[in-house]
Amino acid sequence: MAKRVYLFSSSFTEGKADMKNLLGGKGANLAEMASLGIPVPPGFTVTTEACTEYYDCGAKLSDELRAECLAALKKVEEYTKMGYGDPEKPLLVSVRSGARQSMPGMMDTVLNVGLSSKTVPGLIKKTGNDRFVWDSYRRLIMMYADVVMEKAEGIEPVDGKGIRKQLDEMLDEYKHKKGCKSDTDLTTEDLKFLAEEFKKRVKASLGKEFPDDPIEQLFGGIGAVFKSWNGKKAISYRRIENIPDDWGTAVNVQTMVFGNMGDTSATGVAFTRNPATGENKFYGEWLVNAQGEDVVAGIRTPNPLNDATKNEQNKHLHSLQEVMPETYKQLDDIRLKLESHFKDMQDIEFTIQEGILYMLQCRTGKRTGTAALVMAMDMLDEKLIDEKTAVLRVKPAQLDEVLHPIINPESEKKASVIAKGLPAGPGAACGQVVFTSEDAVKWVKDGKKVILLREETNPEDVEGMRAAIGILTARGGMTSHAALVARGWGKCCIVGAGALHVDVAGKKAKIAGSDIVIKEGDVITLNGSKGHVYQASLEMMDATENPRFKHFMTIVEKYMKMGKMGVRTNADTPADAKVARAFGAEGIGLFRTEHMFYGVGADQPLFLLRKMILSNTVEERKAALNELSPFFKKDIKATMEAMDGMPVTVRLLDPPLHEFVPQSADKQAELAKALGIKAEDIKKRGEALHESNPMMGHRGVRLGITYPEVTEMQIRAVLESAVELTKEGKHVHPEIMVPVTCDVRELDVTKKVFDKVYEEVKKAKGVDAIECKYGTMIEIPRAALLADRMAKTAEFFSFGTNDLTQMTFGFSRDDIGVFLGDYLEGKILDADPFQTVDQDGVGQLIEIAAERGRKTRPELKLGICGEQGGDPASVEFCYKLGFTYVSCSPFRVPIARLAIAHSVIKDKK
Ligand code: ADP
Ligand code: MG
Ligand code: MG
Repeated sequence: MAKRVYLFSSSFTEGKADMKNLLGGKGANLAEMASLGIPVPPGFTVTTEACTEYYDCGAKLSDELRAECLAALKKVEEYTKMGYGDPEKPLLVSVRSGARQSMPGMMDTVLNVGLSSKTVPGLIKKTGNDRFVWDSYRRLIMMYADVVMEKAEGIEPVDGKGIRKQLDEMLDEYKHKKGCKSDTDLTTEDLKFLAEEFKKRVKASLGKEFPDDPIEQLFGGIGAVFKSWNGKKAISYRRIENIPDDWGTAVNVQTMVFGNMGDTSATGVAFTRNPATGENKFYGEWLVNAQGEDVVAGIRTPNPLNDATKNEQNKHLHSLQEVMPETYKQLDDIRLKLESHFKDMQDIEFTIQEGILYMLQCRTGKRTGTAALVMAMDMLDEKLIDEKTAVLRVKPAQLDEVLHPIINPESEKKASVIAKGLPAGPGAACGQVVFTSEDAVKWVKDGKKVILLREETNPEDVEGMRAAIGILTARGGMTSHAALVARGWGKCCIVGAGALHVDVAGKKAKIAGSDIVIKEGDVITLNGSKGHVYQASLEMMDATENPRFKHFMTIVEKYMKMGKMGVRTNADTPADAKVARAFGAEGIGLFRTEHMFYGVGADQPLFLLRKMILSNTVEERKAALNELSPFFKKDIKATMEAMDGMPVTVRLLDPPLHEFVPQSADKQAELAKALGIKAEDIKKRGEALHESNPMMGHRGVRLGITYPEVTEMQIRAVLESAVELTKEGKHVHPEIMVPVTCDVRELDVTKKVFDKVYEEVKKAKGVDAIECKYGTMIEIPRAALLADRMAKTAEFFSFGTNDLTQMTFGFSRDDIGVFLGDYLEGKILDADPFQTVDQDGVGQLIEIAAERGRKTRPELKLGICGEQGGDPASVEFCYKLGFTYVSCSPFRVPIARLAIAHSVIKDKK
C-alpha cells in the first residue's frame, strides 16, 4: 500500500492541485493554497485509497493507517507548537470529508475534535476565553454524536428524530427559557450547563458515553467520514451525478482555527466573482463570532461581505469591508492570487481568528449560464485564459439560459414552489393564467401577459401558445407537442406538472396535496429551466440582448468551422428560418409541409386539404390539389428564398389524414355546408380514416403510395420554386425528403413520381436541369438495417430520431411522461431517450445505417433532425460519426454550434 497520508502546511506540503483523485478536491486544493503561501491552518490528508482500503478491511482503520496518521499529527504539533490532547496547550483539529468531485453537504465534517475533560481547562487557561471554549465543546458534542456515534454506526433514530435534532431542540428550549434570541446571547454558564446536559442525552439516546479520549475522537472521526461516503444522502447524490461508488472519499485532518472567539473573530464564504451574474466583483457573506456551517445553515442572517454584496435583505448589516477593512483587504488580495493561479472563479471558505485570516477551502465555483458566459469573456479580455478555454468554459446547455429571460435568482430563492413539472422550455415567464387558447389570444390583444395553463395541449392550441409568454401543462413529456413547439419558439414551458388538477370549465386548477387553487387571472411565474411553478410575480432578468453573447459566438464559430459538421435548423416558416439564420444556421434540415395547416392563416389551405381528403375520385382529388398547390408553393418558396444560398430539406406530408378531419359535429356541419356535401359523409369519412394506432398507420410515404398525386403536387411546388428563384438570381438547394420509409422500393416508387414531375417542370420552364436532391428519413429500425439498399436511391439520410427512438424502444413519446420518472429514478434509464440519443441502442442503429449507407454511396450526406439534434451529447455523437449536419429548432442552433466547437477543441487536444 502506497503512502496513505499527505501533509500540508506553510513550510512543508506534499500534495498538489492535480492530485484530486488521491487527495480529494478539498485536500488537493488545501495543499495547493499552502504551497502558494496562502495562510492555511496546517494538517494532513488521508487518501481516497486509504478509504478503499478501509472498506476492504471490513470497515476498520488498519494499524498502518493509524501509525501514519499519528506520525503526521506529530509534525502538525511541531508546526503549531501545540500538543494533541495536551492539557497545557491543546491542539484541536477538524476532521473533514472531501471527495474527488465536490459533493456539497453530502458527507460529514466534525469540528473541535480533541476537546476533553483534560483539554477544556487548558484551553480556557490559554485563551482566557471560557465562553468560547464551552461553545466549542458543545458544538463538538453535537457534531460528534450525530456524525460518529449515530450516522456512522447506522443507528436509525427513534421516530425519525436523530440526536442532532434532539440536541438542537434542547438548545432552543433553553434559549427560550432564558429569553435569548441568538446563540451569541448564551453565557458561559449556560453553555457549560448545556454541554453536560448534551452528554447525558447522548448517553441516554445512543447508549454510549461521548468519548473523552482525544485519540479515540480522532480515529472515530476519520472512520465516520469514511463511512459517510456510504451514507444515504451521499449515495443518492452519486446516483444523480453519476459518480462511481468506488472512488471513496479522502479525509482532511486540520488544525482548528476559531471564528467564535469574540468580536474580532468571524467566518465566511465567498465567490471570487458573482456566481449569478458573472460580474467581476467579490461576492460573499460572513458572520462575526461564529463557526463552521453557521453561515450556510441559515441560523443567523449572514452579513454582506462588501458593498457589492449588499441587497434589500442585508443592506442594514455591516460588511466585512466596513468592520475589518484590513482583513478584508488581505482577503481581497488572496482572491486575486487564487484567480490568477487557478484561472477560474473560486468558491472559498475563510475564518478569522482574533483578527488573523485563514483560508479553509477553495474550489471552482458553480455558476449560472449567464455568469459562465460573462466570466469566460471577461477572463479572455483580462488575458487570464485563451480562446479555447473561454469556449470550453460555457457548457452548451448553459447557453439555453443565456438566450432567455430568467428569474432573478435572489427573488427566486425567497419564493416557494407550488408545483413541479418537466423543464420543457427554458427561461422564465411571469404572467396571468388563462385556461383556453382563445382566452390567451384575447387577453394578449388587450395588452396582457398570459400563461396558458392546460391539461395538455393539442395542435389547435397553437395560437394560444404563440400568444402566451409561458405554457404550463398537467400532462405530457419533454417531447410532447407543447414542449416541442415551445422550445422551437424559445418559449418558457413546463409540462407534466402532475399535481395540477385542471378544471377548464371552472377556469381554475387545484394543486393536489395542498389547498392552493390557481384561478383565471392569477399571476404565476414559471422557471422553465427547472420546471418550478411559483404563485407570485417574481423579478425577471433579461439575458437576450447580450453583446457578450454575440462576441462569444463569433469565437465559437471560428472553432466550429475547423470541423466538418454544420448546424441546420428545423423551420417551417420564413420567419423561423430568418431567426435561425441569425443564430448561425447553415440551412434547413427539416421543413414540414403540414405546418401550413396549423395556426394563423391556415383556414384556407386546411379547407382545401379537407376537400382533398373528402374527395371520392382521383379527378376530384386532383382538382382539390390544384387549388391547394399555390398555398404549398407560397410557404416553400418564401422559406427557400429566406435561406438563399443554403440547402432546404422539404419533407413530404407526414401525418395521417384523419388528423385533419374535424371531429366535432358542428365543425363537421360547417365543413359540409362549405363543401356542399352531407355532414353524414364527413362523419363517415372520418370514421373510415380512423386508425387504432395512427402513429404506425397510413402516413408518410404510405400516403404517397396510395395517392401519388399528393406527392406530385408537393414535389412540383418545390421544383417550380427552385426554377423561379434561380431565375431571380437566388441560389437555392432544395432537398426532397421522404418520411417513414422502411424499404427502398417505397423510395423507388416515389422517385418515379419525382422523375416525372422533374421532366415536366423542366420542359414547362424551359430549363436544362434543376438542382434538387432526393433522400429519406431514417426513422424505422428496418430502414436503418437495410441502409445499404436505401442508399441506392437516397442521396442523403436524415435520422428522424424522435420516431426512431419511439420505434426502437416501443415507447410512445406522447405517453412516456407517465412512467419516465419511475424509469429515471429507478435507474432503468439514464436519461430521457427523446432528449438525448440513446447511444447504446438507437445509436447502434444510427451507426449501422451510416456505415451501410456509405458503403453503397460514399458521398452520402448524413444528418439528424429529431429533437435530439440540439442536445449537446447527441451532437457530439453525430460529430464522431462524421455527420454532415445536425438540425434543431432555431433557439437551439447556438447550443449545437457550441457543442461542435467543444468537440473540435477536444478532438484537437
Ligand atoms: P463541507 O464540505 O460540507 O463544506 P467542510 O469540511 O468544508 O465541509 O467543513 C464545513 C465548515 O467547517 C467549513 O466551511 C469551515 O467553516 C469549518 N471548518 C472546517 N475545518 C475547519 C478548521 N480547521 N478550522 C475552522 N473551521 C473549520
Ligand atoms: Mg466546505
Ligand atoms: Mg417522423
